[in-house]
Amino acid sequence: MGVAEHVTTGKYWDEEIETLPRSQLESLQLEKLKIHLDFAYRHSPYYKAAFDAAGVRPEQLNRLSDLRAFPFVNKQVERERQLASPMLGDMLAVPERDVVFVSASSGSTGVPTLSPFTSKDFETFQNNQARLFWAVGMRPEDRYVHALNFTLFVGGPDVIGAQKLGALCFWAGTVPSDRLLFIMKEFQPTVTWTTPSYAWHLGETARAHGIDPATDLGIRKIIVAGEPGGSIPATRAAIERIWNAQLYDFYGISDIYGACAGMCEARDGLHLVEDDILLEVLDPATLEPVPDGTPGEMVLTTLTKAARPMIRFRTGDIITADHTRCTCGRTHVRIKVIGRIDDMFIINGVNVFPSDVEFVIRSIPGLTGEFRITVTDQKHLSRYSLEVERGESTESDASLIERILHDAKTRLGVRPKEVSILDPHTLPRSTHKAKRVIDLRKKS
Ligand SMILES: [Zn+2]
Repeated sequence: MGVAEHVTTGKYWDEEIETLPRSQLESLQLEKLKIHLDFAYRHSPYYKAAFDAAGVRPEQLNRLSDLRAFPFVNKQVERERQLASPMLGDMLAVPERDVVFVSASSGSTGVPTLSPFTSKDFETFQNNQARLFWAVGMRPEDRYVHALNFTLFVGGPDVIGAQKLGALCFWAGTVPSDRLLFIMKEFQPTVTWTTPSYAWHLGETARAHGIDPATDLGIRKIIVAGEPGGSIPATRAAIERIWNAQLYDFYGISDIYGACAGMCEARDGLHLVEDDILLEVLDPATLEPVPDGTPGEMVLTTLTKAARPMIRFRTGDIITADHTRCTCGRTHVRIKVIGRIDDMFIINGVNVFPSDVEFVIRSIPGLTGEFRITVTDQKHLSRYSLEVERGESTESDASLIERILHDAKTRLGVRPKEVSILDPHTLPRSTHKAKRVIDLRKKS
């Protein structure tokens, strides 16, 4: 796949765009959004019908906030439209002959939900990847091992962005851990990308094979995505210790692109590629915008993706946003992902995310860091219990349990009903996305 030449030697992949003052950035977004809405309305049967039904026209958009009059889409709409009009659905805004690549959503059952790209969309996608890679400090001198799934998963072709940047790339994919460690030991790549669970698991596997990732392997930067761990300080610190590497969190969304936000070297939130994707953060109940720092649902709108525009896509992810200029000089908004609305459970009126529990468990020394949450109903009230694993701690079970109850109460506001301390390696290890919540509540 051909990629255009792009040469930079400085701190930024695209300095002008990445450091554009907010007022100019927002003018640029508005200009692109007007064109994009008009394009969607004229070329996508779905958007024409949806805008007409909502009584809105693209020419009514004069300010970015006018977008709030336009209807939302979500994963369910995306799936339904594809099934109603195979193969690519009527959200499509180009003829199928112009589509050169499709990815399929992970985790879906039955017919995979496809995300189509034109040649130009794919080029933009890879330029965004290269920008995110550059921001973590990856350079043409680096050797990069891409350890994400290639089979229809949008994270697979992200490797092309690393090649565009000029790094030497190993397209490892999801090879078995032993093989991946062999590649890492033999060829000493410096950067890799995987999930936090897998980075942890791979580090443990290496140690079990007598390889110390901190000294025997050359990995100095680990990019993670797909789970909140990369932004949880204790999880990040634990993985960094194992590998003697720096961890960078990326956020990807298979319904649009692979990664579209990533940490810079300041590692204080993830910069969204705002010249290509517009962000709204909304209260999930009222759908009104929330201020910076207040958690809300991330709603994304594409600004250029032609094959299938996404107008006001409700991601189901709860985030906080920060629009202030980062210490790195970039002006693009920084997001912090708290968790998925679907994974959230409510205990005594308190919203609890698995990532909050992870924060507590991984902050306690002497545990392995693995955990499992079980949510149950008891007399019409939800309760949760925790299973954790003893690591190197010599504390008594009672004392560890006391500490977990205390920290959970402090951090989450609600204690678990029960805490069990298990032997090391009792809980299932994940090689992709960890499943850490068992919900036994009766579904009404
Ligand atoms: Zn930054």
